[in-house]
Amino acid sequence: MNLDILLGKTKEHLVPFLETKFLVHKDMARNFLKLQREAEKAGHNLQIISAFRDYDRQLLIWNSKARGERVLLDDHGTPLSINNLSPTELMFAILRWSALPGCSRHHWGTDVDVYDANTQSPDEVKLLPSECEKNGPASDLHEWLDSVISQKASFGFYRPYQSDRGGVSPEKWHLSYAPIAEKYLALFTSTIFRRNLEESDILLKEELLSHAEEIYHRFLTNIDMP
Ligand SMILES: [Zn+2]
Repeated sequence: MNLDILLGKTKEHLVPFLETKFLVHKDMARNFLKLQREAEKAGHNLQIISAFRDYDRQLLIWNSKARGERVLLDDHGTPLSINNLSPTELMFAILRWSALPGCSRHHWGTDVDVYDANTQSPDEVKLLPSECEKNGPASDLHEWLDSVISQKASFGFYRPYQSDRGGVSPEKWHLSYAPIAEKYLALFTSTIFRRNLEESDILLKEELLSHAEEIYHRFLTNIDMP
């Protein structure tokens, strides 16, 4: 396999999806449509807000957060001021909500962020925990997803960031297609992780390299299993 797939540096594994608005992995598209149809039967309009993102896009997100040009959130989803943070604190604050370029599961095409288009328009979606909680606009959709995922009736989709494991913040809206994503994660060694960092034009690079082993375990492999 071309390992650039893991790093968001190729599109060879992707197909256009949902009126070509998104790119997703060619082997997950059909099962997402099945999940979408089941959701519809239960009264939910399951839609994607974000699918494949490439390396450069993720680099832009990371660097603009490191420069304080893009909102940074604390564990509760409240905006954080970066002025009071040391470089190490800043790095870990970004990692709670944003993957390192080369390390986002969105590079794989297997992972999508979803919302309920019956209750929100795409420009209203913020991807915050409060939207998924009781009385939030996506709470009914997520209650339904809880049920089909726990019954293994979700066509291979599950939530890698279901619970707070001290790494990536819980993200109920982030669904992953396990049959492919599990294989990709198994291929993503700490050697690939370190080399990707070394070759990157990323801000906070020194900090990242000195914590590389911890970050690899805490933010990449430390996920909920299907
Ligand atoms: Zn996501």
